[in-house]
Formats: sequence, structure tokens, C-alpha cells
Amino acid sequence: MSDAVGHAVPQTDLTEMTACPQCDWLHVIGDVPDGMRARCVRCQTVLLAPRRDAAVTIVALAAAALVLMIVAISFPFLNIAASGLSSSASVLDAAMSFALASGRMAPLSVIVAALIIVLPVARLAGLIYALGPLAVGNKARPYAAFVFRLSMRLRPWAMAEIFIIGVAVALVKVASLATVGFGPAFWAFVGLVILVAAKDMVLCERSMWRALEQAR
Ligand SMILES: [Zn+2]
Repeated sequence: MSDAVGHAVPQTDLTEMTACPQCDWLHVIGDVPDGMRARCVRCQTVLLAPRRDAAVTIVALAAAALVLMIVAISFPFLNIAASGLSSSASVLDAAMSFALASGRMAPLSVIVAALIIVLPVARLAGLIYALGPLAVGNKARPYAAFVFRLSMRLRPWAMAEIFIIGVAVALVKVASLATVGFGPAFWAFVGLVILVAAKDMVLCERSMWRALEQAR
């Protein structure tokens, strides 16, 4: 017995389809040459923007950001001088002083340390772990996909740049009461924010997923 409607409908494997993140239109994206962009046919959102050596650039920027992070944590962040007395503190000192001030402030120190130190470091280290082998043309490491997904998910929670804005606002208030100077760690933090922004601009998540899949 044959089917009354006998024509074969071309079936596309759902795993090969890409939904536009803005309008959900489904696309089958073929090979996109390096430097070209695939855009949504309906709303023109960029779907794929592979770049040659993107993994190398991302790993290099992440490694540089990690070095700046070490400087940002360990060197003095601010010097404050008033009435002949001066004091300088690092970010770690600030987080620790919350913990020592009183028991109720202890959770705050944990949150501050996690959001401005631990999470950004974990993200950068995760990117280097997952994309490092791709940058040198090796096979992907075990759990590379898991680590890459995790470092993408942590992105909204890594708040080094928001910390910088908070410090700038606080300094405007304090500047009338005391002489405030920036330590090396402050400039390291500023450099860190710029490097992380540059890395996020280069990083096309879908292209990296494709590269990770091919390197498996
Ligand atoms: Zn769209």
C-alpha cells in the first residue's frame, strides 16, 4: 500500500538548524568563509562571524587579562591621605576587612571576592583551557565543551567592570574629604576591563562551538 501523498518532503536534521537569537527564524547555515558573516534573513542579526585565528586572539587576550588580574589583586588599589595620615589597600584587603569588621558583613566579603575575583578568573582560565588546544591546532581537551559553556554562562556574573564604576562613583564622594591616589592595581583593573571587552568582541560563540566540534 502506497501513501496517497507520495512525494518525499526533504527532512532537515534539527541539530543542523540554527535559530535566530532575536526572532527565532530557523536557518541552515553552511560553511561561512573566514571574515564573512551569516545574517538572519528576517531581521539581519549576525548568526555566525568566523574569523581566522579567533581562538589564538581570544586565548592571548584571556592570558593577558589573567596576568593583569594577578596584579589587580595583589598590588595596592587606592591610597587615601588626609590630615597627614595615609593608608593604602588592595582589593583583597578590602574583601578581608568586610569579613573582619563584623560577623554580619562576612557574607558580603564572600560575594565581593566571588564576583570581582573568583568568577572573572574562572571564566578566563576556562576559556584558556577550552580554546587553548584549538589555538595551536590540537584536539580539544576532555570536558572542553562543558568548560566553555560554563565560562559563557558565568559572563553576567563576572563584574570587574561594574566594580570599577562603583569605585569611580565612591571616589568622587571621597575626593572632597581626602587626597586620593590610584595604585597600580587600579590601572591593572582598567586594563583588564578593556581586554575583556576586546575578547568579547572577537568571541563569536557559535563559531567557537563549531571549532570545538571539529576539534573533537
Ligand atoms: Zn532574526
